[in-house]
Amino acid sequence: MHVRAASYALNSLPGYLQKLLPDSAPVQPESLQAVLQEVETKILPGVTHWQSPNYYAYFPSNGSIAGFLGEMLSAGISIVGFSWITSPAATELEMIVLDWLANLLKLPNDFLSKGPGGGAIQGTASEALLVVLLAARDRILREIGKDALGKLVVYGSDQTHSSLQKACQIAGVHPENLRLQRTESCNEYALSPESLGDAISHDIASGLIPFFLCATVGTTSSTAVDPLLALGKITKRNQIWFHVDAAYAGSACICPEYRHHLNGIEEADSFNMNCHKWFLTNFDCSALWIKDRNTLIQSLSTNPEYLKNKASQGRKVIDYKDWQIPLGRRFRSLKLWMVLRLYGVENLQSYIRNHIKLAQQFEDLVAQDIRFEIVATRTFSLVCFRLLPANKNEEYANKLNRDLLDAVNSSGQIFISHTVLSGKYILRFVVGAPLTEERHIVAAWKLFQEASSSLLENS
Ligand code: PLP
Repeated sequence: MHVRAASYALNSLPGYLQKLLPDSAPVQPESLQAVLQEVETKILPGVTHWQSPNYYAYFPSNGSIAGFLGEMLSAGISIVGFSWITSPAATELEMIVLDWLANLLKLPNDFLSKGPGGGAIQGTASEALLVVLLAARDRILREIGKDALGKLVVYGSDQTHSSLQKACQIAGVHPENLRLQRTESCNEYALSPESLGDAISHDIASGLIPFFLCATVGTTSSTAVDPLLALGKITKRNQIWFHVDAAYAGSACICPEYRHHLNGIEEADSFNMNCHKWFLTNFDCSALWIKDRNTLIQSLSTNPEYLKNKASQGRKVIDYKDWQIPLGRRFRSLKLWMVLRLYGVENLQSYIRNHIKLAQQFEDLVAQDIRFEIVATRTFSLVCFRLLPANKNEEYANKLNRDLLDAVNSSGQIFISHTVLSGKYILRFVVGAPLTEERHIVAAWKLFQEASSSLLENS
């Protein structure tokens, strides 16, 4: 099967597939050959190739042969592991693998399954955040009474992922009680402990009840790192649940030289990293650790007669159904286990380091061209930059960069995405696809230069 090298679904217009496929399912079976032929001619032209070496958008979503084999085995075994008894291996492998990963990240022992904490694989970082927000909400409401829901306040920064807003909506947090503290470019867009402390004091003085902070290691727009230690001390003083979202950058912290970004994690109540972003584990696999698993279980467990069994009743086992929103769950730990075993820690570290080195090379190329500006300090493998016209009118600069994004993406040769920081439209170039090599970076930069020259000439 032929897959184009280009990483952008060039030919797809909205509704393109509806025009190509019939309105109803076939009454009689069709041949596999006919189906696969249509995959090639109708489906793949509408696929954005996240695994292409020329894919640099959003954050990566790594696939690998190890991850794929794990997915395949999981699909083949095809169990639904909601309780220990429904497939003991699924629950136990998940506990073991998340303990392994916690040790690799040097998370505090409180997060390991041997104590009152432990890890569970969620589908996404958004689900991880939602379940811990529910646990935190219920913990405080048990203490102060359910009527106080309208007074509960959640904190983050204006760089926190939008999944915090969604989780608040679902958890019933009053929309006016979500504080997204303003960040500044001079502070690299990290959440300032002073600003958090001031907001908490102000809310308490107004009769509100602070109860949850989501800090980020590697924000979505620019990979800013919030100062965990200082923030954690504030949350401890105020008995606020402290969640750390390291959806993308958590993977880098398996390397000793990047582990310092998690300094202060000992103050956190929960921690999350997406193995399906930058850890060679096919989507979906979001690792969540929590220090006190009972808080989650108290919020999310149900115990209907038809699910009762000796192991669960004896409280000797973990039933992961009580750590998540759905009942059913896939055997996701298999792919993570296979990734860890088939690569080994040293190869995983080299993998991360190579992407960061390539991002640095791209950043050096941008810095050498005086027509461009690097907009935020690069910490991991994301370069935030923009074309800076001689006429420094911001509106014009924003339009120029929007046009540049359109030009490089519509070439079909690469795929990037954008963000806005301090009112500036910025191009995001994230190195993280498993097959990206130096030659791809060099070619991508040439494309940016040529497209920029053409735009500037015609402007
Ligand atoms: N947190 C951060 C920092 C992210 O960058 C993202 C997505 O890119 C998310 C959370 C949400 O991830 P998910 O799609 O796993 O919910």
